[in-house]
Amino acid sequence: MIKTDICIIGAGPVGLFAVFEAGLLKLKCHLIDALPQVGGQLSEIYPKKPIYDIPGFPTVNAQELVDNLMKQIAPFKPTFTLGERVDGLTKQEDGSFLLSTSDGTEVHAGVVVIAAGLGSFEPRKPVIENLEKFEGKGVDYMVKDPEKYRDKKIVIAGGGDSALDWTIFLSEVAKEVTLVHRNQTFRGALDSADKVFELAQENKIRLLLNSNLHSLDGDGVLKAVHITDQASTVNTFEADYLIPLFGLSPKLGPIADWNLGIDKSAIVVNTEDYSTNVPGIYAIGDINTYAGKLKLILCGFHEAALMSQSAFKYIYPDQKLSFKYTTVNGITPL
Ligand code: FAD
Repeated sequence: MIKTDICIIGAGPVGLFAVFEAGLLKLKCHLIDALPQVGGQLSEIYPKKPIYDIPGFPTVNAQELVDNLMKQIAPFKPTFTLGERVDGLTKQEDGSFLLSTSDGTEVHAGVVVIAAGLGSFEPRKPVIENLEKFEGKGVDYMVKDPEKYRDKKIVIAGGGDSALDWTIFLSEVAKEVTLVHRNQTFRGALDSADKVFELAQENKIRLLLNSNLHSLDGDGVLKAVHITDQASTVNTFEADYLIPLFGLSPKLGPIADWNLGIDKSAIVVNTEDYSTNVPGIYAIGDINTYAGKLKLILCGFHEAALMSQSAFKYIYPDQKLSFKYTTVNGITPL
């Protein structure tokens, strides 16, 4: 059981900055994200896009902003659970909270901050008859730890950046990599596509273009993937793992079941402190809604600051909190 002052659901830019604001008040944070990396939409959807509306930065690349946020919060030593979705949230009699994840991790927290953006990113699944039977038994929708695939036979399916990047990376790790793509050309970066064609020419990977996943085989665990080629012939390839990488789509998911006030897939909050209708649970960033709400990083940062002051009072109702600037707070973050 992980114990913390604040459990932050979502490690996007807003969840990350909340660690800084809470840290100034000496509150410890644990963050949980369904994705295997931090950064939310910035790292997942547009890592290379420049952002022009972060105060003090005329321009900053999205991934660079995430990296800077990680540096900024490092002095407060936040802890992370990545690649796991928060499914359960229950309030205890003493006003604290118990959270549980899709992988069974449990967290006990004084306060819960939902910084879940558009919701948790769920994988787009290929339509194959017996897919569910092999989920977690050979079928993985994201690469959490590349070492899992060392000396294994893997089939990757997809034509975007994730499929290309992991094919290139895992070609050095796995025993055998097969990349299946339904078209002749890729959607991902030209540079990565060139590298994949090069690896195929050097026989370092097997590249199956104009091909589709057909069905899976195995006795409890995955043993083979059947793939249809351009001539509609079904060929069989031995495989320990199938990694379909067809993109992710955000879903509100379990948040909808936590008795929170919801309006059009967003959590209704009080703009005084971004608290929800459940005392001790706050919602900041893209996941919340209120009159005049703007889904901007900068607005989420402001919400994180106000939330932290209120969270402190919720955890320590008897302690007086006087607002000070970072430079005179007795804390040197860097
Ligand atoms: P997110 O970044 O969405 O992060 C939320 C995280 O919560 C995700 O990683 C998700 O996996 C996780 N999560 C959700 N539910 C769960 C759960 N149950 N369990 C575990 N984890 C969960 N904004 C700007 O200010 N300037 C810009 O220039 C700009 N450009 C943009 C360009 C594009 C193409 C897009 C799509 C958005 C852009 N935005 C921009 C908007 C900006 O990205 C969002 O406002 C910002 O990402 C919100 O941050 P967040 O931390 O609230 O949520």
